[in-house]
Amino acid sequence: MDDFIEAGKVVRRVLDRASKEIDVGDKLLEVAEYLEDLIRDMDAEPAFPVNLSLNEVAAHYTPPPDDETEVEPGDVLKVDVGAHVNGAIGDAAITLVFDNELGESLAETARKALKAAIETVEPGVRCKDVGRAIGEVCRERGHKPVIGLTGHQVERWNLHAGVSIPNDDLKGYEQRIEEGMVIAIEPFVTTERGDGDVRPGPTVEIYSVQDPNVRSRVNLRRIWEERDGLPFARRWLDDRPGTRLELGRLSKLGALKAYPELVEAAGEPVAQWEHTVFVTEDGCEVLTGSP
Ligand code: MN
Ligand code: MN
Repeated sequence: MDDFIEAGKVVRRVLDRASKEIDVGDKLLEVAEYLEDLIRDMDAEPAFPVNLSLNEVAAHYTPPPDDETEVEPGDVLKVDVGAHVNGAIGDAAITLVFDNELGESLAETARKALKAAIETVEPGVRCKDVGRAIGEVCRERGHKPVIGLTGHQVERWNLHAGVSIPNDDLKGYEQRIEEGMVIAIEPFVTTERGDGDVRPGPTVEIYSVQDPNVRSRVNLRRIWEERDGLPFARRWLDDRPGTRLELGRLSKLGALKAYPELVEAAGEPVAQWEHTVFVTEDGCEVLTGSP
C-alpha cells in the first residue's frame, strides 16, 4: 500500500500547485510539461499524460507538441493528473474556472457529488449505489451527470482495472465494492441542456501500447519497457515528421490503443472532480487529498 499512498500524495501536491498557479494567458503546453516535471521531481512518473480539457471537452485532451492554446477568460479547465510509484497509481482531477458563473456552479456540483459519492463507499456497496449519490447531487443543483464517463478501479500498472463507478444509478453496475480495492471516483457534470454523453473529437494525442512486437519506426518496444500498458503522449516521442500518421497506422493495426479527446455530445461545458480512495473495513480513505 505504501506506493499507492505515496502516489496519492504526489498527485495532491501537483494539483495544489496547479490550482494556485494556472492563470489566464498560460499556454496549455507549458502547463502540461510543468506539471509532468513536478511529478518527476517528486520521484514518481506520470501514470498518464496530464489532461487539460477545456469547456465542452470533457476528458483526454493533452496538448499536441505545437499547441498554441492559452487559457482564456471564461474557460472551464479540467486538470486531471495521474502519478505512479512502481506502478501504483494515484489519479485525481480538479476544475479551474476563470470568471464564469455557470462554470463555477458546475465545478462546485462536481466537487459536492464526489464528496457525496465518497461518503457512500464501504465494502458491500454496489457501484450503482455510489453512482446514485452522484446523480442526485447533480439534479438537486439543476445540472446533469455525464454518464458516458465512469470512475474505475486501479491496480498496479493498470489504470482501468476491475469495476467501474458510473456517474448515476445505471443498470448493469451491480458489482460490489470490496475491502482493499483502490478506486478512482470521478463525477463529470454538465448543464441541463447537455446530452450527458460524450463523443470522440478530432484530437488524438494519447495512446497506450497493446502489442510491442509490431514493426514500426516508432520504438514500441522501448515505450512498452518504460510504460508497460500505461498511456503516453505523442509529444513525449521524438518530434519527427510523420509520427502522427504512424501512430494512427499502429492504432488501426491494434498495436496501439488511441484515446481521442471526448467532447460533451451537445457541446455544453463540463466540470470534473476526482479522487482515488482505498476501501477500508468500514469506509474508505482518500489517497489523493481531502475530499
Ligand atoms: Mn483522472
Ligand atoms: Mn480516473
